[in-house]
Amino acid sequence: RRLDSRSGVSAGLLCEIQTPISTEPMEGVYEITGELGRGKFAVVKRCTEKATGKVFAAKFLRKRRRGRDCRTDVTHEMAVLEMARNNARVVNLYAAYETDHDIVLLLEYAAGGEIFDHCVSEELLPESQITRLIRQTLEGVHQLHQSNLVHLDLKPQNILLTSLSPPGDIKIVDFGLARRLGGIGELREILGTPEYVAPEILNYEPITTATDLWSVGVIAYMLVTGESPFAGDDKQETFLNVSQVSVDYSREAFSRVSELAVDFIRKLLVKVPEDRPSAAECLSHPWLWQLPQLCLSPDAAASRPARERSCGAKWTAPPEDP
Ligand code: ADP
Ligand code: MG
Repeated sequence: RRLDSRSGVSAGLLCEIQTPISTEPMEGVYEITGELGRGKFAVVKRCTEKATGKVFAAKFLRKRRRGRDCRTDVTHEMAVLEMARNNARVVNLYAAYETDHDIVLLLEYAAGGEIFDHCVSEELLPESQITRLIRQTLEGVHQLHQSNLVHLDLKPQNILLTSLSPPGDIKIVDFGLARRLGGIGELREILGTPEYVAPEILNYEPITTATDLWSVGVIAYMLVTGESPFAGDDKQETFLNVSQVSVDYSREAFSRVSELAVDFIRKLLVKVPEDRPSAAECLSHPWLWQLPQLCLSPDAAASRPARERSCGAKWTAPPEDP
């Protein structure tokens, strides 16, 4: 089976947009000042608004892909960003332009790059930083899920930082595969990147908000160990690892990781979606509320202040909405 976003079969696509798509030439307003990223059908460039000096990320999305008109895919991505406008953990959409080949989304610029860089670097982030980033990711995901939106492509390449050093706040990007749940019928699709997708996607089973929580587990695993939990030598092996939930918790890489971190990840990387905690439930996991100095010291954990302990006890009860 091919892992791809398959056109024409998608439920949960949005089509109503508020942001006007301008056909004025962009060059008059913005100056391109670099390239930020590149995917199969998109190039993201750094650009500066000439009048103000303000920096944006311009995502150039090809209108035609494989000989097919993909305008609806682009307006869907815009509509999702608009629905998430009040979500502080999601990148903002400011304007849109249309050129001969592309629709260009002018997005809030996240200057710190991808958290992916912190997953593959020699020097991993301290756990206190990782828990802050995971907390913010969960806040963003929780708010998306409350609007019945699922991202479906959460991975370290799609979680950016507002600044690099010290690491700033996270911004979730790339809503090309996001879907609206709760319409008529179930959502089943084969999409995403094998390394990061949940078993239900590989098995063409119904997609729910729990699908995103699997990905949060993968991201947490990568940030604490610097390794991708399911990556095999080829796609076949990766598929097998995901569908058998074959995760290595014993290796050397985990020796410097707190037990609470392992507990958090273990609860998310479970095969049956209903058995995974929701984003709200995850947000009260004690790992995310440890004080920095307690992350590596089990002795100190015994004398945790009452507030911290009560957070731990709340693991099954969702926190108040932010
Ligand atoms: P694709 O659908 O091709 O994966 P993305 O929206 O994920 O497109 O963008 C590709 C890459 O471009 C991202 O992984 C990131 O490195 C960079 N990028 C995207 N949006 C921004 C942004 N708002 N600010 C800074 N960099 C960005
Ligand atoms: Mg992407």
